[in-house]
Amino acid sequence: MRLNRVMSGVRAPEEDADVPAFWRGLGVPGLADIHTHFLPPRMLRRVWEYFDAAGPLLGRSWPIRYKWSDVERVAHLRAMGVRMFSALAYAHRPGMAADLNAWTMAFARDTPGCLPSATFYPEPGVTGHVRDALDAGARIFKVHLQVGGFSPADPRLDGVWGLLAEAGVPVVVHAGHAPVGTGHTGPGPFGAVLARHRRLAAIIAHMGAPDYEDFLRLAADYERVALDTTMIFTDFFDKLAPFPAAALPVARDLGLAGKVLLGSDFPNIPYPYARQLAGLARLGLGEEWLRAVCWDNPVALFGAPALAESAARDSRSVTRSRGRAGVRRPPRPVISSLAARALTTASSVAWTTAS
Ligand SMILES: [Zn+2]
Repeated sequence: MRLNRVMSGVRAPEEDADVPAFWRGLGVPGLADIHTHFLPPRMLRRVWEYFDAAGPLLGRSWPIRYKWSDVERVAHLRAMGVRMFSALAYAHRPGMAADLNAWTMAFARDTPGCLPSATFYPEPGVTGHVRDALDAGARIFKVHLQVGGFSPADPRLDGVWGLLAEAGVPVVVHAGHAPVGTGHTGPGPFGAVLARHRRLAAIIAHMGAPDYEDFLRLAADYERVALDTTMIFTDFFDKLAPFPAAALPVARDLGLAGKVLLGSDFPNIPYPYARQLAGLARLGLGEEWLRAVCWDNPVALFGAPALAESAARDSRSVTRSRGRAGVRRPPRPVISSLAARALTTASSVAWTTAS
């Protein structure tokens, strides 16, 4: 018996070459991965050196698999059928964010399929930087509370959260303690920001690992809070912070409600890209869930990427062969009572902060 055979038509991909068969089996036009990294060359080199040296915020060895040029990495994403991706950069000191944004926004302009991506840091003028990035067309922001070493409740950011909430532009927040917690990570600090800015469209990176239940609860409580799957459900991450089986029904319902989005951390991963998808497929949450997470939810949030002729053709032929209507039904708007019950249980777990 093949253990990777999860359901009729969809096989968990073993290698990157198997990825197109995975999404074709689902009947979607490709993959939409909202958590990938492209950085200015000098910064990328430093990030990779940090991972190679297993720096203190990683807590373990982390040999990056895709230390390739930007051109090669974009080509690899396209070859796998990743039609939408991002160029998430983040700052760890003042004076960096504006330059990073200039680079990532230019990269997105030159790279079809890449979402115009930006970041910010609590520093004088930050609200203006964010307004500039929005005016320049930024469609996704990223902040990293762990590497950035700042509190999301920093008063200098209050105007930024308000601005993003008003614009409805999502911000990916590395808010969880994993891999190594700081005083500003965990559900407490970012939960306080959400309580103040209830309309903020936030995407919790890594599903909030390791405090999954608390962050799932935030996604259930706040209409515009979602989670990305980045690195979760892979063997590598399971050793660091395994996802609790008891929370899977909630993850299922949130995914079907549009609130779980495919993320991978490509290229900064120590295993083949395919393993992210295999991890999701092996959960056994169903083809509808996989379609929602890997395509429908990100596309609902960011709009459909322009598909190349061949991709559109692939998609049509898959749709025909599976006898499916070309238009998918929209994600379910409400969380089921099962998930609501599980979340009530989860919320009884004390909120943890490292501060
Ligand atoms: Zn990342």
